[in-house]
Amino acid sequence: MKLGILGGTFDPPHLGHLAAANEVLVQLALDEVVFVPAGEPRLKERDDVTDADIRVLMTRLAIESNHSFSISEVDVLRPGPTYTVDTLRDIQGEYPGAELYFIVGADAALTIHAWHQADQLAELANFVAVTRPGTPFSETALRAQPVELIRIEAPGVAISSTECRARVPLGLPLRYLVPDAVADLIATFGLYMDLQH
Ligand code: NAP
Repeated sequence: MKLGILGGTFDPPHLGHLAAANEVLVQLALDEVVFVPAGEPRLKERDDVTDADIRVLMTRLAIESNHSFSISEVDVLRPGPTYTVDTLRDIQGEYPGAELYFIVGADAALTIHAWHQADQLAELANFVAVTRPGTPFSETALRAQPVELIRIEAPGVAISSTECRARVPLGLPLRYLVPDAVADLIATFGLYMDLQH
């Protein structure tokens, strides 16, 4: 089995994530892509990341129409910071014998050298770098990473989770940027109304 893995904060999941995952699914003839929402302690520069259970729910809603997409809660259930080396080991346990393809966007791909136990990553999975609109690959920077990166050009979906969050307090629509069910949930829960990011 060839299994794609798309890890992310998914706060919220949007059509860029889905388009990128689907492009890799088709171009690399994967059997499935599993979405892995990150655990809460890995808060990056933000200290107001939405609760993991709500991000998991949004991710479930986002992928429900595609039977080749699934979700794993390994990163949410594991205590401590979310490190991809742990994600890959846990997914190996959930899908014994699967050939893993960890999918990263162009920005994240350039930071792999700084990830926890980066020298172990190449043994655990293949790595796939997906371009996004206006962000061509820097070949020099990609070659400096500790893993070989398969390059995939995804169709241009110029949207980010940051932009989605910023639109909410301004009263701007999320429809057609995130799946309808995700937009409905954001409205129902009043997510992002008070965000400064
Ligand atoms: P995110 O913002 O939630 O997005 C998830 C992935 O989708 C990212 O790789 C992102 O690429 C990509 N993406 C987002 N919008 C896209 C679009 N419009 N078109 C194409 N691709 C798009 O991701 P994140 O919170 O940075 O986390 C990424 C993964 O890296 C997670 O699994 C995280 O655990 C892992 N990570 C691990 C370590 C570590 O092990 N120490 C450190 C950092 C990250 P971009 O990055 O280009 O936005």
